[in-house]
Amino acid sequence: MSTPAVEFRGIAMHFGDKAALRGIDLAIAEGSFVVLLGPSGGGKTTLLNILGGFLGPTAGQVLIKGADVTQVPPAKRPTTTVFQDYALFPHMSIAGNVGFGLKMRGVPKTERSARVEKALDMVGLGHTALRRIHELSGGQRQRIALARALVVEPSVLLLDEPLGALDLKLRRQMQEELKAIQKRVGTTFVHVTHDQEEAMAIADVIVVMNDGAIEDVGPPERVYLRPASRFTANFMGDNNLIEGRVARAEHGCVAVTTPLGGFDIRGDAEAGASVALSLRPEHLHTEAGGGRVALGRATVMEAGFFGTHHQCSARMDGLDTPLKLRLPQKRLVQPGEVIGLHADPGDMVLLTR
Ligand code: ATP
Repeated sequence: MSTPAVEFRGIAMHFGDKAALRGIDLAIAEGSFVVLLGPSGGGKTTLLNILGGFLGPTAGQVLIKGADVTQVPPAKRPTTTVFQDYALFPHMSIAGNVGFGLKMRGVPKTERSARVEKALDMVGLGHTALRRIHELSGGQRQRIALARALVVEPSVLLLDEPLGALDLKLRRQMQEELKAIQKRVGTTFVHVTHDQEEAMAIADVIVVMNDGAIEDVGPPERVYLRPASRFTANFMGDNNLIEGRVARAEHGCVAVTTPLGGFDIRGDAEAGASVALSLRPEHLHTEAGGGRVALGRATVMEAGFFGTHHQCSARMDGLDTPLKLRLPQKRLVQPGEVIGLHADPGDMVLLTR
């Protein structure tokens, strides 16, 4: 493997007796869009600040393109940061804001103008150079902050909840733009968010963080469809966890006994171990067929129409909590109705932790 753009080795961070990070090991490939995802307090911002040099870790090393930068101050690192509040200068023109970092680095005026123009074009705001910050909308300000960070051509761009201040519609639109811009410039992006939909929409790789540790690392499809832990399964979208016990295990396949019956699932676990099966709401069906097995009968508790689908909860004998279902748009169900449920064991994910 070529030298990673970023490497964290055994990073720990303590604030007094509070451990914010506990031994983070992570390599980030050159040119990738990596999203640090997790609930509030999980340690995402602390890790980003350690990468930017705004915080020094209690233990461990940070490498950028193979060079140890652990002791290097922020201004001397090949990184720039886009903050949630953008931190733009209101009294300067847009071109002045975008060119500020280049001016500080002593880049001559003609080269500066050309680079500012290119950066503004890249974010689709080439026509606004002479305007002032207060004349811009939230989405435009966000793009200016991005242009200002990209113009100095960092090796790694750090983004701390950059879309957090935007309303939902603009946020979704900016996600697409951010992803397109990243692919165009090819710079490694490390982006912090607690929004799983945002993470899935933009990331090449999602790093799920909780309580100062990494829970899971992988492409969005893998992290969503085959989560590594109960925490990831529950944090990444809706999910049903069915508790069970391993009856037999051989050749990467385990027979799991659950209150809904026995299932043969791929995965590794010791015979006798307590495990859980993760089953997404969209993987529960009211019809049989296509390799599905019958799970039994369930009573609909609640049902809501969400346009593209119906979201329901249904109670089954033997389970303490109702199952969450996501039924097709045309499959109308009513509270109190009894339905048969089916699932493909291939959609069930074995969780051992
Ligand atoms: P959020 O999405 O809320 O920013 P996060 O995942 O980014 O959450 P961090 O901000 O990295 O989490 O915080 C991790 C833990 O470290 C939290 O428990 C937080 O209270 C603590 N922490 C962070 N910064 C400091 C600080 N300067 N002093 C003391 N404790 C801190």
